[in-house]
Amino acid sequence: NEGTGRFIVGGNWKCNGTIASVAELCEGLNAGEIADNVDIVVAPPFLYIDQAVEALDAKRFKVAAQNAWVEYTLQDPTHHYDSDTGAFTGEVSAEMLEDLDVPWVILGHSERRTLLGEDNVTVGKKVAHARYHGLNVIVCVGESLEEREAGKTLEVIFAQLRAVAEEIDDREHSSWGSQVVIAYEPIWAIGTGKVATPEQAQEVHAAIRQWLVDNVSEEVSKATRIQYGGSVNDGNCEDLAKYSDIDGFLVGGASLDAEKFVRICNSS
Ligand code: PGA
Repeated sequence: NEGTGRFIVGGNWKCNGTIASVAELCEGLNAGEIADNVDIVVAPPFLYIDQAVEALDAKRFKVAAQNAWVEYTLQDPTHHYDSDTGAFTGEVSAEMLEDLDVPWVILGHSERRTLLGEDNVTVGKKVAHARYHGLNVIVCVGESLEEREAGKTLEVIFAQLRAVAEEIDDREHSSWGSQVVIAYEPIWAIGTGKVATPEQAQEVHAAIRQWLVDNVSEEVSKATRIQYGGSVNDGNCEDLAKYSDIDGFLVGGASLDAEKFVRICNSS
């Protein structure tokens, strides 16, 4: 990988874990030998973030939340600058993540888009709001099988990116590169065992990179890290990591196995 700076691997634990399994996973991760040239971010469920922060080697592993709340109304697009604490039962705000020094957040994961109804506008607002609170963001984009088969892959992804760019363009333009990571996760590859071929992934990554040149800036395009996600495991990661526009991975299932995850982290 000749890309854009440091390789970055995320472990998305999704809605998995117990006190015992989190302890075991953290222990396994701490024991792993991981090259210095890779950034690693693990995303436990909210309730286990604290435990993971306590248990993990802080020099090696950063933690992420898997979501953050943003309150806004479409009628008042500036509203998301207001405080997001308040009468939002069941939600966790970016302000709270900032308060607890949680440095990263994953936003716009396809499971939230499809199961929780988050649309492009919501995800764009969430990214801007998280940036406003100083959080580093992994924002997920990707097409469904139906969209791919209809030849709409890039159209779908560009619309998802545009919704983010429109929100963070003015205020947080310069932070795109280092603090906003894009995860390309084709929905058909997530949790299915059907990984995109390296060529398929590289093709989309290159298109995202070009989109950033055309719609944000050359500088941001060069600096932005683009992760691939969807059935990444310790057997397929090395082939994917060879491609110049694949700057890391967002790993679901295999991130729950410390040994596999460590091997993925070392794949660059
Ligand atoms: P998977 O999930 O690795 O289990 O396919 C990836 C993700 O959803 O981030």
